[in-house]
Amino acid sequence: MIEIKNLHAKIGDKEILKGINLTVKAGEVHAIMGPNGSGKSTLSKVIAGHPSYEVSEGTITYKINAKDKNLFELEADERAKSGIFLGFQYPVEIPGVSNFTFLLESFNETCKYNGAPEMNAEDFRKFLKPKLDLLEMNEAFLDRPVNTGFSGGEKKKNEILQMAVLNPRLALLDETDSGLDIDALKIVAKGVNALRSRFNATILVTHYQRLLDFIVPDHVHVLYQGQIIRSGGKELALELEEKGYEWLIKEHANKI
Ligand code: ADP
Ligand code: MG
Ligand code: MG
Repeated sequence: MIEIKNLHAKIGDKEILKGINLTVKAGEVHAIMGPNGSGKSTLSKVIAGHPSYEVSEGTITYKINAKDKNLFELEADERAKSGIFLGFQYPVEIPGVSNFTFLLESFNETCKYNGAPEMNAEDFRKFLKPKLDLLEMNEAFLDRPVNTGFSGGEKKKNEILQMAVLNPRLALLDETDSGLDIDALKIVAKGVNALRSRFNATILVTHYQRLLDFIVPDHVHVLYQGQIIRSGGKELALELEEKGYEWLIKEHANKI
């Protein structure tokens, strides 16, 4: 679905990503782990097309309708509409716009772009009901301004609700576990797992192994100073939980 080759990206003069190689196939869940400041959020934002980052080297190929597309030729909004979803580490509040309106408009924008039929407000409420139930969210959330005054856990659930509505092909979830208590974490994981299919893929950025007890990844990668220094299966996350990152960083330092 997406193939990243030798990706370098910078902000101003500071190079943050220093040669990332990563291939994600449809149906897979990849976890990106690594110490603070390694470039995990940067990687998600570069894939989503955040304007602050300049790609200085490398390629990202994105497969749409069995055709290979140069991802950098798509603007951020086109990437979103063609199925790349970025969940934020810190979801934004949009006072003055109801959650319902926001979801409906995002959904219809995406339909318009993809030539799919749009939905009216009444049908959309019905469409949302099972998704709210899945995430154990009260319908009252729909009529509140987007994320305004939501608790950390509620913002994260709302993000998964947005994802459930848009049904992305590639979901990039950045620190979806931060600030969640164990019950909220389980509900978020349930939402992510319910959306897993052989047609879509997820890149999950997480500090902690805990989330990976509930969303079991196919591949785990450790990012450090802008490079993937180790990749493995789900057992790598368990090893990191037990031993931390230091041993890997030392091994990496010995290699270079
Ligand atoms: P992570 O998500 O792994 O914690 P980030 O991608 O947020 O890491 O950050 C990687 C590095 O890039 C850090 O050293 C951070 O300070 C730096 N960085 C991120 N955003 C900016 C910015 N807007 N300006 C300057 N440096 C930045
Ligand atoms: Mg961080
Ligand atoms: Mg981050």
